[in-house]
Amino acid sequence: MGRYTGPSCKQCRREGMKLFLKGQRCTMSKCAMEVGRAAPGMHGQRRGRKMSDYGSQLREKQKLRRQYGLREGQFKLAFTRASRRHGVTGEMLLQTLETRLDNVVYRLGFASSRREARQFVTHRHVLVDGHKATIASMPVKVGSVVQVKDKTSSREKARMMIEANASREVPAWMKREDKEMTGTLLRIPSREEIAPVVNEQLIVELYSK
Ligand code: SF4
Repeated sequence: MGRYTGPSCKQCRREGMKLFLKGQRCTMSKCAMEVGRAAPGMHGQRRGRKMSDYGSQLREKQKLRRQYGLREGQFKLAFTRASRRHGVTGEMLLQTLETRLDNVVYRLGFASSRREARQFVTHRHVLVDGHKATIASMPVKVGSVVQVKDKTSSREKARMMIEANASREVPAWMKREDKEMTGTLLRIPSREEIAPVVNEQLIVELYSK
């Protein structure tokens, strides 16, 4: 299946929660979820429908997948990788998603959304440990330094983003040096620190069938 190119807010309306897909707009009163728009579709107004077990598992998976802006295949691959690691699969999945290069760029504040961060990476504005990095899904290792390329346009873009996202704090498991335009992954975050509003156990159950 190809990349989703429809309206981002429709995805939030479908999941009934803010997925923060549009950067600053998500914190404004214009946000479709703040306005209280119903779920898309003919039966979007209907609430309180009882969902099957499969339905709940599917919804949790879609919530997480959409938050990180992944296609079905990419998400499944992330899950497969996570399930091969030692530890609780659900937590490993969250950590796998959190340490993707596009997510790290987003968390560091060099982009206002994960979609924008992906574009920032694929448009060659980023180096990892001094090397060119253009693959958004690349896993960032602990201790790796993500740097905005030493090019005026790249640095200017990143500087504008840092200013625009000043209200969003850099998480405790990362460190950003504004002058050098670098960020370091200090450690792998715990489940509590990532705190996505999903029940990842249901996703594990879905893929374990
Ligand atoms: Fe979702 Fe609101 Fe952002 Fe639209 S503006 S993507 S509804 S959080």
